Amino acid sequence: MSVAAGIVAGMVLMNLLFPPRCPGCGTWGARVCARCLALFGLPKRVPGAGPPVFALAAYAGAARELVLAFKERGRRELAAVFGALVAAAVPHLPGVGPDPWLVPAPSRASAARARGGSHVMRMARASGFSVAPALAFARGVRDSVSLDAASRRANLAGRVRLVPDRLPPPGTPVVLLDDVVTTGSTARACVSVLKAAGFGVPAVLTLTTARRTHPHG
Ligand SMILES: [Zn+2]
Repeated sequence: MSVAAGIVAGMVLMNLLFPPRCPGCGTWGARVCARCLALFGLPKRVPGAGPPVFALAAYAGAARELVLAFKERGRRELAAVFGALVAAAVPHLPGVGPDPWLVPAPSRASAARARGGSHVMRMARASGFSVAPALAFARGVRDSVSLDAASRRANLAGRVRLVPDRLPPPGTPVVLLDDVVTTGSTARACVSVLKAAGFGVPAVLTLTTARRTHPHG
């Protein structure tokens, strides 16, 4: 076997042992394939009361898989992908000036520790915008995945708090950033805390929405 043939054989073997796969759909050969990336579009208004929420994709299929890979399966390299999507989306948010600060929605402290830091924070940093981790959950907030809307509100009431030494500069317009919005309870609680502290929050930006969209939403 020639040296070149040996190198090629080695590369083939490496790809067989550690094949690159898209974390969204499992397609071989790309980190995030073009088809999965194309699921995330420009920000669309999520219907419903409360603060204006804008999402880039539905929380379903490969888009959901990508978010879960980033959030739960340690695929930290996705921060760059999601950061780029956020950077492209922010200029399209109505009422948001050219230089807003991003405030990541809080993670439960235990969840963030298990993930080695807040994934929303990482994606915010990767976007290139200024970031202020100004919100945290108080103790006693349960993971909201299994709760219905009323229970979520009760779970969150008064449980989002300001982190006083991590605020954006006074008067800065702020975009609240999250990975998925379901009932919107978290977004509502976060925005009311920011507004009470004197910040304008023209928009909430989330990667995905699990909220059902119907005419009376
Ligand atoms: Zn894919």
